[in-house]
Amino acid sequence: MRIDIITVLPEMIEGFFNCSIMARAQKKGLAEFHLHNLRDYTLDKHRRVDDYPYGGCAGMVMQIEPIDRCISALKSERNYDEVIFTTPDGEQFDQKMANTLSLTENLIILCGHFKGIDYRIREHLITKEISIGDYVLTGGELAAAVMADAIVRIIPGVISDEQSALSDSFQDNLLAPPVYTRPAEYKGWRVPDVLLSGHERNIRDWELQQSIERTRLLRPDLLK
Ligand code: SAH
Repeated sequence: MRIDIITVLPEMIEGFFNCSIMARAQKKGLAEFHLHNLRDYTLDKHRRVDDYPYGGCAGMVMQIEPIDRCISALKSERNYDEVIFTTPDGEQFDQKMANTLSLTENLIILCGHFKGIDYRIREHLITKEISIGDYVLTGGELAAAVMADAIVRIIPGVISDEQSALSDSFQDNLLAPPVYTRPAEYKGWRVPDVLLSGHERNIRDWELQQSIERTRLLRPDLLK
């Protein structure tokens, strides 16, 4: 899959896409990330992409033209499944949405900045508006990175042990069970006996029971 990210600050997330699982996904040819500096698409000689808001409120607003030129250039090269705008008033991002988006081929993610973007962009060019939570960030870059990570890590083959992504929290509406590693005892704190028993069936039963108990306790809303 291919994700094109439009931003005024590509340097803010460049490093992120060259690390760890995101870098591995690219190396394996399972995902491509392209960062586009919005300032490369403005016709303004000072490379400005924002202007004062109509109505005289505080802050600056991102202009239509550079964003339209960038999105049009990308669309002329391939079809996109969604043109996403990151925004605090969008639909809340969750595992289900990550699963759905991981099945797409090409995505554009537009990162807002300043006071936001000219609303006409949202009306005419954007197909999906997504928030990563009820708080306000300075820009959409971190939101784009969060979404790309959650979407790409579940593409089959990106994480070596596929089961590992499928058994994470929120798949099946359950939180993950606790995990332990060596030593089996530290300062008298012991790993649950069942995990040392080697009895596969009992271990799986215990994990499921822990998942259900922890979800009931910590996130009962998921069980509804
Ligand atoms: N004035 C806007 C906030 C602007 S914050 C409002 O009150 O709704 C600047 C940019 O950061 C936004 O355009 C958006 O792209 C990004 N952003 C901020 N918070 C976000 C969130 N919770 N989820 C996704 N993107 C967010």
